[in-house]
Amino acid sequence: MDYTLIIGLEIHVQLQTESKMFSASGTDFGLPPNTQTDPVSLGLPGTLPVMNRRAFELALKTAVALNAEIAPFTKWDRKNYYYPDLPKNYQISQYDLPFSRGGWLEVPPRKDGTGGGRCRLVRVHLEEDTGKLIHGNGGWSEVDLNRAGIPLLEIVTEPDLRSAQDARACLEELRLTLRYLGVSDCEMQEGSLRCDANVNIHIEREGKTIATPIVEIKNLNSFRSVERAIEYEGQRQYRAWLADGLTIKDAPKQTRGWDDEEGVTKPQREKETAADYRYFPEPDLVPVVVDAAWLERVRGSIGELPRARRERFEREHQLSAYDAGVLVEQGKEVADYYEAVGEALLARDGSAPGEVRKLAANWVTQDVLRIAKERKLEIGQFPVAAEVLAELLHRVRTRQVNTNQGREILSKLVEGEGTLEAIIAAGGYGMVTDRGALAKTIEEILAANPKALEDLKNGKKKPEAVKGWLRGQVMKATGGKADAVLVGELLEARLASEPGGSG
Ligand code: MN
Repeated sequence: MDYTLIIGLEIHVQLQTESKMFSASGTDFGLPPNTQTDPVSLGLPGTLPVMNRRAFELALKTAVALNAEIAPFTKWDRKNYYYPDLPKNYQISQYDLPFSRGGWLEVPPRKDGTGGGRCRLVRVHLEEDTGKLIHGNGGWSEVDLNRAGIPLLEIVTEPDLRSAQDARACLEELRLTLRYLGVSDCEMQEGSLRCDANVNIHIEREGKTIATPIVEIKNLNSFRSVERAIEYEGQRQYRAWLADGLTIKDAPKQTRGWDDEEGVTKPQREKETAADYRYFPEPDLVPVVVDAAWLERVRGSIGELPRARRERFEREHQLSAYDAGVLVEQGKEVADYYEAVGEALLARDGSAPGEVRKLAANWVTQDVLRIAKERKLEIGQFPVAAEVLAELLHRVRTRQVNTNQGREILSKLVEGEGTLEAIIAAGGYGMVTDRGALAKTIEEILAANPKALEDLKNGKKKPEAVKGWLRGQVMKATGGKADAVLVGELLEARLASEPGGSG
């Protein structure tokens, strides 16, 4: 099928505040229905909203981080519609004077280097969340207003995305950025990050580009469903165009819902247009003036974002793009932990910094993350401090213990079996690095197993196989303490002097 997907995303993010956008009740997820409400969020007559300054600041921080232009003056508007989850019959939102416009997000390319690129933003604005309807089995529905009034950021992208994978990558990079900023927990399962996708396709025919009608896909509540739904919708639009020939000029925008179980999109109610919402300025709230000093303060609070951090890890730490990506993707705390291990290790021995960072990165991405996952621990709860892991890695580096022993010691540290010193002393860890002693061990093994050299001589076994077997025997004889690098060198030299032994 020869078509190009054209995709824009509309993302809603709940901001992480203690209280709601325009009132004082809490914002915790998962409380019993309607226990987190107050007269304002219930929309009772005579109540007045008061803006949550913290929420506005988090919104500013996000927009600045997303390279948006910040308006010096912004106001609130009422978006009018009737729905049971909206007790006031209007949502306080922003219409013609949002607090920010434009901006962009750099979407990382795929692992194979394709895709990615800049996705421009139309705008970022602030509004309040609605309540939730719980549809019962008996044909009735219940209303839970705990969510009503939670600060909600709406982020709208330009239709710059060209594949389902890029759309997913864009959303993932956005989530990572928002988490680095600390403005939202972005739990898609809990609805604090929600995404709709506007999708159509461009078909090339006889030198002309044909665009199909635009469809807005709703109910995308996982990264996987974002990718699957867009992929499906492209194919569906292509088949629809083959059947009816309708183009973007012939049909208005449609709304379809994603059915994750069936793996299809299905038509939904027709969406209101801006005129149906009868937007007008909210008379109960004063406009917000963002002065240069406020903006500067917010700008100063942003810190290093994922993209900059990946680049720094590659450039300054000489990590591979893959390693830098894995560390940064795991979240700010994991990247901080890796950096702390690397710094502490370099403080002990500053030679070969690239090698040191690589060692720290390997242990964090492989061992630390595996253990944390097995034990369902956040990195903040990881029982081995960066400083202690660095001391252990220093001993691995200086060949006081070998890598396998290091792993064993790490799991004992995690188990809380004692301090690093105590565990090393009790376990009798250490490396046999005495060249003469190891050479002697090799001779003893060869004397006790004459078949090894015979097999080599008559070509029954390849030198690599014999070497591997001998290495295992040396390890066994030394209780796993032999310096593996040195054993390798000694075996190489010893076998080279045998007939058939040079590989
Ligand atoms: Mn919205």
